[in-house]
Amino acid sequence: MVEPLVDGHGRRISDLRVSVTDRCNFRCQYCMPTEGLPWLERGEILSFEEIERVVRLMVGMGVTDVRLTGGEPLVRREFTRLVAMLAGVEGLADLALTTNGFLLERDADALVAAGIDRVNVSIDSLQRDRFFQMTRRDSLPQVLRGLEAVARHPEVHPIKVNAVAMRGFTEAEAVPFAEFARSTAFQVRFIEFMPLDGDRSWRPDDVLTGDELRATIHAVHPLEEVPRERSATARIFRFRDGRGEMGFINPVSEPFCDDCNRIRLTAEGKLRTCLFSVGETDLREPLRAGAGDDELRHIVRDAVWRKELKHRVSEPGFRPPPRTMSAIGG
Ligand code: SF4
Repeated sequence: MVEPLVDGHGRRISDLRVSVTDRCNFRCQYCMPTEGLPWLERGEILSFEEIERVVRLMVGMGVTDVRLTGGEPLVRREFTRLVAMLAGVEGLADLALTTNGFLLERDADALVAAGIDRVNVSIDSLQRDRFFQMTRRDSLPQVLRGLEAVARHPEVHPIKVNAVAMRGFTEAEAVPFAEFARSTAFQVRFIEFMPLDGDRSWRPDDVLTGDELRATIHAVHPLEEVPRERSATARIFRFRDGRGEMGFINPVSEPFCDDCNRIRLTAEGKLRTCLFSVGETDLREPLRAGAGDDELRHIVRDAVWRKELKHRVSEPGFRPPPRTMSAIGG
């Protein structure tokens, strides 16, 4: 194996998030405007073969975990074919999926057969009308059926339910989600609202912190913390009575950049070394210009060396990146 990927701060990169499309069938308030965004043309996004080549190169440089995201990855045609291609990459230890769950009931069996190891499903409310309010889609029953469909595969583990926490909305969801985590095998995690929304309406006051949510839940169902794994994004708490776990991803109130091991590939082939990167490195052009593996590795290594130390969301003068969440993929 060639030299592992290490950034200028000594952090080893082992986790690659791959956005396979910028398109989505939902319009979540914290992500996309009601009218959607101008989509990339088909020729602009990387082909499955190009994605596979980049993943193979990265795995050769020490990447072990790949997470497939979007937009909404399941809207990309023949997506399970890509899953099968990537599952065949030697050295790839974990192939995960983040989805809004709308097409999961249709695709769950094929995704698992193709090689998906872990699934995160985004659900911001367990109440149908509030789910509609947040996503602008009346789809909660379908999403829950999708969750059940993937849960029928014990080899897919863990299955996580991610809820974005927004002040003035999620307070009422805290205890219902805790009870959902206690009565199912799903690990429910709250993610703090980040300044990556398409409407550019994010304000620091909109952030409902993990601490606040945890205190609300703890008052009803006492929690105790589980030691944090290296490079983990979530603080995990188990219920003191042993009935399940909850996670809190607090990028705004408790940044976890010190041991960040993540980089991202956008649907059109831009390498982002941080979720909040302002600059990006184009891989599509050299890929399509016939660059060899050494040249591509050099481009990747150089970009990773310049990876940002941390995000600066809570610092004076912070500027959100030009690219919004749906075109990054989380
Ligand atoms: S904000 Fe950037 S540096 Fe911090 S954890 Fe996220 S990707 Fe890593």
